[in-house]
Amino acid sequence: EAITVGELANRMAERGADLVKALFKMGSPVTLTQTIDQDTAELLVTEFGHRIKRVSESDIDIQSTEDVDAPETLQPRPPVVTIMGHVDHGKTSLLDALRGTDVATGEAGGITQHIGAYQVTVKDGSKITFLDTPGHEAFSEMRARGANITDIVVLVVAADDGLRPQTIEAINHTKAAGVPMIVAINKIDKPEAKPQKVREELLQHEVIVEDMGGDVQDVEVSALKKTNLDALIEKIQLQAELLELRANPDRDAEGTVVEAKLDKGRGPVATILVGRGTLRVGDVFVVGAESGKVRALIDDKGRNVKEAGPSTPVEVLGISGVPGAGDPLTVVENEARAREVAAYRAGVIQQKRTTAAPASLESMFSALREKQAIEYPVVVKADTQGSVEAIVGALNKIGTEDIRVRILSAAVGGITESDVVLASASRAPIIGFNVRPNAKAREIATRDGVAFKYYDVIYNLTDEIRAGMAGQLGPEA
Ligand code: GDP
Repeated sequence: EAITVGELANRMAERGADLVKALFKMGSPVTLTQTIDQDTAELLVTEFGHRIKRVSESDIDIQSTEDVDAPETLQPRPPVVTIMGHVDHGKTSLLDALRGTDVATGEAGGITQHIGAYQVTVKDGSKITFLDTPGHEAFSEMRARGANITDIVVLVVAADDGLRPQTIEAINHTKAAGVPMIVAINKIDKPEAKPQKVREELLQHEVIVEDMGGDVQDVEVSALKKTNLDALIEKIQLQAELLELRANPDRDAEGTVVEAKLDKGRGPVATILVGRGTLRVGDVFVVGAESGKVRALIDDKGRNVKEAGPSTPVEVLGISGVPGAGDPLTVVENEARAREVAAYRAGVIQQKRTTAAPASLESMFSALREKQAIEYPVVVKADTQGSVEAIVGALNKIGTEDIRVRILSAAVGGITESDVVLASASRAPIIGFNVRPNAKAREIATRDGVAFKYYDVIYNLTDEIRAGMAGQLGPEA
């Protein structure tokens, strides 16, 4: 029995892009719509089962490899969208404008609540979920924690300003995650807007829009004048259709913490984005190292609701403490079980904090060998554009048939928080050529176990990486 990659992704409640990536690493480059045989499918399920286990490092983990939803249980679910782009290019304005397109807001009489994500109902009745924290850092931080909740990225570029450093960072983070992108060329109302120039600049970063013969959708909008928002929504819907996003709503809920806080009046409150199943008032759950019983569910319009299905963001009350963003929520059978799993996880988290060692190049290579990965991700920062180009050129040349360097980002400047978050999400080291990390970057790197490698001579850099690759591939390479 053959199954398409997209279908299998749905049944495993994993992102299609992650499966495609895993398959690529296993040596079978296929697309979402292509079929794979039973054996390959089983391999993937095992691989991802192991991965889930590794993430929580729990022997009594509640998510098991058999936990795959049968195809007949799957139903379409709304896409989850994150907006990224350079500061002041209009991310917040666009989020607000899109929120204003919700046809359900008026009739429901609700008042907009900022809970970390919101859902709009489009004219045709379908829904789209937007994460309310724009930017690539939050996105990659979630990803580093194993929470791949974004289906589609909308990249905002101001037409009067063009591509700026954070635009390029956003492109790198999106590509590293394998999430499809739609470009919203904003501020088109301004007389000095040059949308075509934006398309040309994108080309230099290998983002090729349809007009230029590529497959990235783009749309000219004005968040200020609310121009062309319908067209943007249509493109999101089109992209969502291609992804065939589906989930089983009729099972115990699983979700991810988008945002959490201690509320003076209400106690610990977390916004959960439901991944699969339906979360209901009265459900007993574990979330991160906390547990609880759903006392109330409040939607993004401030209304009490009884339940929330796949892709729906909802505030949950009744948690023992404040979980972290990116923590998974899982409904379990009873409170004793919830406390048991939560206590276990708390122990694991504590242990992890005290034993986390930075990933060395060597451990990176051995991890790669185990996974038979053929890509070695790195983040490159250097002192001049000339060095960046020389390093990129040199790194691209040292690949072999079995393994090659994948440059997630290469830029001029000191090592920043954004670089560390990007590296962490892809388990990559950061190569600093005549540059060093700032204090914040250092702090996050220590927390997340990201390694820095400093060089001031290019051939030392390439030699070390080449030697590492060769050593790990063994005599047959
Ligand atoms: P963010 O930093 O990316 O979230 O950007 P903001 O949404 O805060 O917008 C930055 C500035 O650009 C604000 O002064 C907005 O009013 C303005 N702005 C946003 N979108 C548009 C637009 O479509 N046209 C014009 N003319 N100004 C815009």
